[in-house]
Amino acid sequence: MVKNAYVHIPFCKSKCKYCSFVSYPQLELTKQYLEALQEEIKYFYKNEPLKTLYIGGGTPSVLEVSELADIIENFRFDKAAEITVELNPETLTKDYFKGLKSIGVNRISLGCQTFDDEILKSIGRRHNSEQVKNSVELAFSAGFENINLDFIYGLPSQTIEGFAEDLKTAAYLDVKHISLYGLKIEDGCFFYKNPPEKLPDSDTQADMYLKAIEILTGKGFEHYEVSNFAKPGFESRHNLNYWDNNSYYGFGIAAHGYVDGVRYSNYQDFDTYFKFPHVHFLTHRVTLKEQLEEEIFLGFRECKGINVQKINEKFSIDFEKKYSQILAKYTASNHIQKTPQGYKLSDEGILVSNVILADFL
Ligand code: SF4
Repeated sequence: MVKNAYVHIPFCKSKCKYCSFVSYPQLELTKQYLEALQEEIKYFYKNEPLKTLYIGGGTPSVLEVSELADIIENFRFDKAAEITVELNPETLTKDYFKGLKSIGVNRISLGCQTFDDEILKSIGRRHNSEQVKNSVELAFSAGFENINLDFIYGLPSQTIEGFAEDLKTAAYLDVKHISLYGLKIEDGCFFYKNPPEKLPDSDTQADMYLKAIEILTGKGFEHYEVSNFAKPGFESRHNLNYWDNNSYYGFGIAAHGYVDGVRYSNYQDFDTYFKFPHVHFLTHRVTLKEQLEEEIFLGFRECKGINVQKINEKFSIDFEKKYSQILAKYTASNHIQKTPQGYKLSDEGILVSNVILADFL
């Protein structure tokens, strides 16, 4: 039974220079998009009570509260469901937060990226640091406790010291969750064709990441997933569901889902999505071998690591025998560590996780 759903809102007022996510500045299409989205949800959703709903983007906060309510009202929820909405800080008011609260939203995720105003400007963000701080305060005063801030490290002109200050400020603001992304300049973004100057190199990015672990764990955050830190009890239940390799719906343009053993993705362009909101662009039934690889890949993203007994039972294998050479190699180099339940990546292992995990495939 599917217990989790993601809804994609693919609109942004302008494009950040590092962004290659599926988001468009065509806000005039909002009404038509929301109609197609309703059609898709009504067609695929089987009325299961959800444990988590995540409305992401793009910028969901370009929508009115009533438009978000129309989306949320499609679903039934478990009693303690987690309902998250991603927000951009430049337009938020206390009334908007109160409105979100009144329609059942109980977790918000704010795109901060850095508190350095010069850098924010240079990467094309529309907000400044003051607006982030105000938004956090307004959210608290409207009754939100579960607040995430997103940060990027490795930004042009960013220093380890500057990034460390960002994280200390976030901790001071008393947000309960912090997500970190290392900057990757991918095809499709402005920076890809116009490389910025003063980009920190990969060693500096790695040092920034290790510094973040030191600062945030020192401030009472638990490093529970490669890129995510939470105060106890505030882990993102929606994302934990992905990493536990469970099923989920994905609704909206370019959304991905995993239902009844089939992974699917939706059309990425408006025209096709508007015509065929109830047709998935790609579908793939996941083989048992792929399921095992995903279980390992996703399990190692969590800092508690993989549970060997669970994997052995689920796939009828002897994990330690099957992967004995890889485990021996990386435990000897201390990239993988033994835990009471199985194995996890060390902090150094996380830095080269792509190489390590490729060995399991
Ligand atoms: S980074 Fe976020 S806010 Fe900026 S363009 Fe991309 S989706 Fe929109």
